Amino acid sequence: MNKMATKLPPLPSISEIVRMYKLKARKQLSQNFLLDMNLTKKIVKAAGNISDGYVCEIGPGPGGISRSILEKDVRGLAVIEKDKRFIPSLQMLGDAGGGKMKIYHGDILQYDMDDVFPSEIKNKWEDEPPNLHLIGNLPFNVSTPLIIKLLHAISERRGPWKHGRVNLTLTFQEEVGYRMSVPPGDKERCRLSVMCQHLCHVDTKFIIPGSAFVPAPKVNVAVVTFNPLKKPLISQPFKLVEKVARHTFHYKQKMVRKGIETLFPPDMPELTAKMFELSEVNPNLKPINLTNEEIGRLCHVYNYICEQHPYILSYDYRSPQMKDFVRKARQIEMDKIEQQ
Ligand code: SAM
Repeated sequence: MNKMATKLPPLPSISEIVRMYKLKARKQLSQNFLLDMNLTKKIVKAAGNISDGYVCEIGPGPGGISRSILEKDVRGLAVIEKDKRFIPSLQMLGDAGGGKMKIYHGDILQYDMDDVFPSEIKNKWEDEPPNLHLIGNLPFNVSTPLIIKLLHAISERRGPWKHGRVNLTLTFQEEVGYRMSVPPGDKERCRLSVMCQHLCHVDTKFIIPGSAFVPAPKVNVAVVTFNPLKKPLISQPFKLVEKVARHTFHYKQKMVRKGIETLFPPDMPELTAKMFELSEVNPNLKPINLTNEEIGRLCHVYNYICEQHPYILSYDYRSPQMKDFVRKARQIEMDKIEQQ
C-alpha cells in the first residue's frame, strides 16, 4: 500500500536555495536544474513505489529531486554529487530529512556504488526487485558513458546489483532516450539500443520540455526506466557483446558484412564468412534491421571463433601495431598445429 507523503520541516524553495547559496549553473558539468517540484515529483513517481525503500540519486545538484524522494518516506537516501558547491545546501536538506540522507562528494564515473544500499537488503536475481532504486537527472555530458558503465555492472551483478534486480529511473536527451528503446527497423537503431535492451526492459515514461530546466538546454529530456531482465538476451560477457554490437553498427548505411569484417584481420576473410554461415544471419541486411536475437547469434559465433583463435579477441583494426601482432600470433598457432 502507498504511504502518505512525509512532510519535511519548512525549507526555502529550490529557487531560493539556488539564490541563497549562489549556485550558478556550470556548463562544463552539464548543470540544468529542475526547480518545478511538480516535475521532480513526477520523476520520482516514475520510479514506482519507493516508500520504505532506499534510493541512490546521481547528481542531486540543489536537491529538488532529493526533496521529492525524502517526501516519499524512504528509509534512506544516498546522493552522489561532483560539484562541492552543492554540499552545504544538501546538508541542510539532510538535516530536515532527519538523518536519512548520506552525501557522497565524488564523480559517479569513478565510483563503484558498492556501499550505497544496506548489505542486508538483498533479493535473489530471479525474484522480484528489492525496494532499492537508482534515480538521477543526469548531466548530459556523462549520460552515455554512465549508462554503459551501469549496464556493465548489471551484467556482472556488481555494485547496486549485488542486491538483486535494482531498477533505474534516469534522464537523457530525448533522442538518446529514443535510441535506447527503439525496435529493429528504425533508423535510430544503434549499439546503445542493443546494449540496453539485451540487459533491461527499457521504457520512456515521459518527455520534459527543455524549457522546464534552468538554464534551458536546447533539447527535450526523456525520463527512462530500466528494469534488469532475469536473463540477458545475449549470454556472453559484456565487453564481447559491446564489441560485436559496435562493429555491427560501424557502417550503419551499408550491409552488416562491412562492419563485421572489421572484427577480423583483412587477410582472414574466411572468419567473416564463418560469422554469417554459423549464425545464419543475412550479411546483406542493413545493421538497423538486425534483431537483438540475430546480434546475439553473431556474438555466440564470435565467441566461438575467439576460442579457436584467442588473439582475435584483442584485434583492433584501427591499431597500427595490430598487423604485426596478428602475424606473430598466427605464426605461433601454425607452429603448434605443425608440432601436433
Ligand atoms: N538533480 C538536479 C536537478 O534535477 O535539478 C541537478 C541536475 S543537473 C542536470 C546534473 C547534476 O549532476 C549537477 O548537479 C552536476 O553537478 C552533477 N554532476 C555532473 N557530473 C557529475 C559526475 N560525474 N558525478 C556526479 N555528479 C555529477
